[in-house]
Amino acid sequence: MPHPTPSYDLIIVGAGPGGSVAALTAAKAGLRTLFFERGARPGEKNASGCGLGPRMWRAFDFMEQLTPAVCPSMREGNAIRHHLVDETGQVAARMMTRPTRSVGYEPAARFITMNAYRSDFDPWLASLATAAGAELRCSTLITGLHHEKGRVAGVVDEQGSVHRAPMVIGADGVLSTVARAAGIRERWKRDEVVLVPQLDFAVEPGRIDDVLGDESLACWWGVDFPAAYQVFFRDGFHIGLGNWLDAWDQDAMAPLRRVVELPDFQRLIRTLHAEPRELQVHLLPWLTDPGKTYSQGVMLVGDAGGFPCPLEAEGVYQAMETGRVAAEVAAEALGAGDPSEAFLAEYERRWRASSVGVEFEAGPELARIWRALPFSPEQNMSWFIPMVSELLGGIFDWSEPHAVRMQQVAQHLRGYAPQALPFFEDEVVPLLGAVYGDEIRELTSWRSMMRMAGIALRLRRAARGRS
Ligand SMILES: Cc1cc2nc3c(=O)[nH]c(=O)nc-3n(C[C@H](O)[C@H](O)[C@H](O)COP(=O)(O)OP(=O)(O)OC[C@H]3O[C@@H](n4cnc5c(N)ncnc54)[C@H](O)[C@@H]3O)c2cc1C
Repeated sequence: MPHPTPSYDLIIVGAGPGGSVAALTAAKAGLRTLFFERGARPGEKNASGCGLGPRMWRAFDFMEQLTPAVCPSMREGNAIRHHLVDETGQVAARMMTRPTRSVGYEPAARFITMNAYRSDFDPWLASLATAAGAELRCSTLITGLHHEKGRVAGVVDEQGSVHRAPMVIGADGVLSTVARAAGIRERWKRDEVVLVPQLDFAVEPGRIDDVLGDESLACWWGVDFPAAYQVFFRDGFHIGLGNWLDAWDQDAMAPLRRVVELPDFQRLIRTLHAEPRELQVHLLPWLTDPGKTYSQGVMLVGDAGGFPCPLEAEGVYQAMETGRVAAEVAAEALGAGDPSEAFLAEYERRWRASSVGVEFEAGPELARIWRALPFSPEQNMSWFIPMVSELLGGIFDWSEPHAVRMQQVAQHLRGYAPQALPFFEDEVVPLLGAVYGDEIRELTSWRSMMRMAGIALRLRRAARGRS
């Protein structure tokens, strides 16, 4: 019996940022493209990736079309406020940072992030794909892959209907059905996925600008809770605090409650007249390396492939970029009539060469230092925060003559050496080594620095002795 002609060239499961950019790219390349979304519309679950990084504007021309007319919650911000919280719940030090002078392109010098609720952003992105000719089917849960003669030949939905195409892109997020159905992996391990409870507050439009100016994000770093992040939109903000599944041995809401109850946080709620709007709990893969992301007839993009950045878990840009690369490779594979696993290895070669892959070159070291510092509060933030607070606060102090204060601060800082120096060697030096090479690893090891300091001291004494 002749093989039924596939209705589509490419099927994409998921209409988040990864799926929509894959669909847009494929439709523009002339592929008959069908993408599925289980929600009634894209963005329905209002997933939490809302801080959009400037790399998206550099990589995708269409981002210039993102305006408040199509995305009313969008708000760009140029500053991050860091609150360092001590064990009493007081903010011991506070800092504000902005893009620095070494940032080389616009709009990265103009904004740190463009914040937009995903319930606005995702439908807009999907509409670009449908305008380019891709077909979107919502309210359709894909439950598995369809095979013919041992090869991937489409997908199956929850009604049991088969949708045919010789290639499938899994853009179905952290719990990817496609990844498992293709045999690429089983569920994430507990140390590969984070659970993030997040509270959303409504704020009258304009008030956040009035109170916070151009602040985009805030980080709450604590000695007794893992780091929490706050994202400010035009008409609201989130506060979220996640951790790897293997670290949750208690009520997952407790650390978030601790932050929300801080006096400074409560004051912010009052000043902004903020009203609690929604509690969300999402999962996110957070890996040192995505590993295998393809098999015969299948490629995984975005969270389905484990692509969020190993340091901060930025994942929207990564989903869009891998979505584009996968669709380009799909077009070439179909052109060559070869959706084999060997052909699709090209996908991994390309994403590794892209800005997404470069991020993973120091993936283990980036993820390690993040886990060891803000996510190990009792172990390391308990000395790190007092140390930084001493440094910042000790400079601006009128309690003694300044020279006396400088000596007092230096004396006090020496007390942190037993914790700070091994941390520097175990966590910071490997990262510097991964970024700059082995030479710097040797130069920056604290033992070699102590050796150099010893030599410098001896030389100074010798010079004094000669004069
Ligand atoms: C709390 C939190 C905060 C974050 N903050 C940021 C941030 O500020 N900036 C940033 O860049 N990233 C952030 N991220 C990461 C970012 O949200 C994700 O990396 C990004 O959404 C991945 O996009 P995606 O298209 O791969 O997957 P998703 O956005 O998860 O989209 C997958 C889509 O597929 C659909 N779907 C799933 N299964 C099926 C199925 N079987 N059939 C049909 N449809 C299906 C889903 O409904 C969904 O619409 C955050 C993540 C979390 C959890």
